[in-house]
Amino acid sequence: MTKFSPNALCFGEELPASGAPCFVQVEGHGLTITFERDGGEGAQEMVPFPAFSVSAGGLDHDHLVLKWGEAERARTLYLKNPHLIRAFRDAAPDHLSQPFEQAAERVRQVRHRHRVMWGTVGGAIAAVALALWFGADLLVEMAVSRIPVEWEQKLGEAAYRDFLSHQEVIKEGPAVKAVEEITQRLAEQVPNNPYKFQVTVVKSDVVNAFALPGGYVVVFTGLMKKAESGEEVAGVLGHELNHVLQRHGLERIVKNMGVMAVVAIIVGDQQGLIGLMRQVGVELLTLKFDRAQETEADLTGLQLVYRAKIDPAGMITFFQKLSEKDDGRLEWLSTHPMSSARAERLKVELAALPKRSPEPFTFEWTTVQSSLGVQPVAAP
Ligand SMILES: [Zn+2]
Repeated sequence: MTKFSPNALCFGEELPASGAPCFVQVEGHGLTITFERDGGEGAQEMVPFPAFSVSAGGLDHDHLVLKWGEAERARTLYLKNPHLIRAFRDAAPDHLSQPFEQAAERVRQVRHRHRVMWGTVGGAIAAVALALWFGADLLVEMAVSRIPVEWEQKLGEAAYRDFLSHQEVIKEGPAVKAVEEITQRLAEQVPNNPYKFQVTVVKSDVVNAFALPGGYVVVFTGLMKKAESGEEVAGVLGHELNHVLQRHGLERIVKNMGVMAVVAIIVGDQQGLIGLMRQVGVELLTLKFDRAQETEADLTGLQLVYRAKIDPAGMITFFQKLSEKDDGRLEWLSTHPMSSARAERLKVELAALPKRSPEPFTFEWTTVQSSLGVQPVAAP
């Protein structure tokens, strides 16, 4: 059996989050796409030219992006190989040629810019590798900034669906309404937000919440039962949404992948990216953020809560509560080593902000809690 050597990457609903490596052949009437299976050839799909829409995309818009199919059968194919792109152009019918030529012109321009860059910035790789030793964080940020939000969302969404398919999801009722209102209040305060936050309430006694790249958030009912107000939940959500906004997940992944992967992303190398995408799918749900990222999410989370006119005292009391020893299962602690120092830091930060009067939520927290089965505390 000959070794399968993919020349393109395909995304779609029932394909892996990291994209399916595939081998594309241009035929007289369309494309034959062969998917990889166990290192050899797997399923084949024949797509006629009229089914495609064409654009430029990927890093630097130097990929040719072909889309076809609808709803859950929708597919997106990223082509970068110049021979393949040329063959597609030669074989594609006239109706594709106009958008195609525009896309191809963009690709040519980007290629030209790259050549110019390589000519003038000789030794860039060596510089990058050297700088990694001295300024790793900056380079990680650079690499992350080159990953399109669209790719990030695909990855996050796939991991999110995968996770939720094994969980008992609460679809409606006071708890869902409350979480939606809190998220809405916070999201409104994010200028030029590229993410559409989606929050799901999952029935579980685990005291936890987490956010995946792309804006997909899970809150467990255990955390909502533990919280004594909507403001306390808002504190946790403010923190989690900022992990998304600061792209902490991608930073961790890029960091874990090492020097060559970072270089590959910065120079737009497709093989490097395929490697990245493959690893991301696996790592998303087990990500641990570092201390600097946690502090950043705490502080930006507090500011977000404050701007949303939600009483920030809730965030601090909840963090304090989580730092106290408890016989319950406090999973937020396993990913968020909670120390009273953390709450203290937030207190100092809050004291520096001008006082403003908070606006209450429209829901009653007692209603939310009783919908989750929390017994009301009897009046003395
Ligand atoms: Zn965190």
